[in-house]
Amino acid sequence: QDDDFKRVISHAKEYGYVFQSSEIYDGLSAVYDYAQNGAELKKNIREYWWKAMVQLNENIVGIDAAIFMHPTTWKASGHVDAFNDPLIDNKDSKKRYRADVLVEDHVAKIEAKIEKEVAKAAKRFGDKFDEAQFLATNQRVVDYQEQATTILKRLGKSLAAEDLADVKKLIEELDIACPMSGSKNWTEVKQFNLMFGTKLGATAESAMDLYLRPETAQGIFVNFLNVQKTGRMKIPFGIAQTGKAFRNEIVARQFIFRMREFEQMEMQYFIKPGTQQEWYENWKKNRMKWHLSLGLGAENYRFHDHEKLAHYADAASDIEFRFPFGFKELEGIHSRTDFDLASHEKHSGKKLQYFDYETRESYVPYVVETSIGLDRMFLAVFSNSLQEEELANGSTRTVLKLPSVLAPTKAAVFPLVKKDGLPEIAQEIIEDLKWDFNVEYDEKDAVGRRYRRQDAAGTPFCITVDHQTLEDKTVTIRHRDSMEQQRVAIESLKGIIHEAVDM
Ligand code: ATP
Repeated sequence: QDDDFKRVISHAKEYGYVFQSSEIYDGLSAVYDYAQNGAELKKNIREYWWKAMVQLNENIVGIDAAIFMHPTTWKASGHVDAFNDPLIDNKDSKKRYRADVLVEDHVAKIEAKIEKEVAKAAKRFGDKFDEAQFLATNQRVVDYQEQATTILKRLGKSLAAEDLADVKKLIEELDIACPMSGSKNWTEVKQFNLMFGTKLGATAESAMDLYLRPETAQGIFVNFLNVQKTGRMKIPFGIAQTGKAFRNEIVARQFIFRMREFEQMEMQYFIKPGTQQEWYENWKKNRMKWHLSLGLGAENYRFHDHEKLAHYADAASDIEFRFPFGFKELEGIHSRTDFDLASHEKHSGKKLQYFDYETRESYVPYVVETSIGLDRMFLAVFSNSLQEEELANGSTRTVLKLPSVLAPTKAAVFPLVKKDGLPEIAQEIIEDLKWDFNVEYDEKDAVGRRYRRQDAAGTPFCITVDHQTLEDKTVTIRHRDSMEQQRVAIESLKGIIHEAVDM
């Protein structure tokens, strides 16, 4: 598992997807740069989301709010008082942990044990193996499951500031039951605020303390009435946006899964109070459908409904994805009630109410939101697509099977040899295709090597110009996943590629 993840990280670097930020100065922890291919993949994911959320929904519009916001925003949103993570230090190893993540890692370890037991039994019983029955009746597995659920339940109850001591006790108990950190010497659990502070203004006296936004949602809430009025929006309606958010995360690991500077894609859906249950279910379904449309495999997703709710929510669920390090949150769907708008009304003294012309009544709308991390989505797509494949001739190939719609480069064009006018024809094809797609020219090495390079970079099509092209204006087009080659007319290339890569 660890090796798989290491392979993902090194492949992302080697093929120009993700670099450590400021690498020449040995990097900056939990900050990453997207390279030439990564920037394209990220843009394509963003556009895929935007099209599904904004373009295809008549009643959802998109905005682009500033990162800096008036500081009272974060008082009203609850972030100044409650946007904390529980922090615990290990006095022996001098390592710092997020207490809840530490406990969750224990649980993941227990889950891995269960998976191992299941795999072992499946092998032993062969065709006759019934997983559900095994999970329900095998005593050891039943015990593990019980252990995991009990731990998560206790953790959910005890993350409130008043009983953080209980979290410490839980970690100490876990250290004995299932050693992870190899130490019993822990500090007390403290709450740590995740917002980055900065200053606005030139002189010391007039400077104003600001925060870098820790979520994009508040830029939508404070603009709710402006958008509703100028867009003549009728409830239910949504406002969407994508943009950077900043969190001073306690533990920064797992590559781009948890970053200090990251990008969110959020949509807040404004509804009539009382209809939140229905819309919450609706958006859960809708967002799962979006994920499944990319074809990464239904078995890699699951919902995790929250028992413990954030201060602003009356229902919440995560869409979890099977990352190389296990199932983890990819997207959150939250029913936020009127918490945010009502609080902004209170703090700003401005009315943030919707007037319903049909019923002639005013009210503060309720909100159901969908919130996904663009970088996490990138990691989900990238890690799932990276595969080592055994070929019929016994060799292996590394192939990045990105959904074609998201691939950075859609086609690479090769002249078979660097003479006889073949490079010129290849360039002509590129001149024609480049208005529609990102395309690349490559004439170096044998064609087989060029195919492998494009496979590893995730390019869905390779087009080869050969001597027959001179006679009949046809080329071969090779498909990345099947490795099949077809002979087609140059004229038909655009249509074939559009068919495969269009949203
Ligand atoms: P976690 O529990 O993993 O810290 P969260 O529950 O705090 O996440 P939300 O506040 O619900 O996350 O944010 C919505 C989405 O933003 C998450 O589902 C995730 O995809 C993304 N996200 C949150 N924090 C980070 C981060 N530090 N780096 C990358 N993406 C993030």
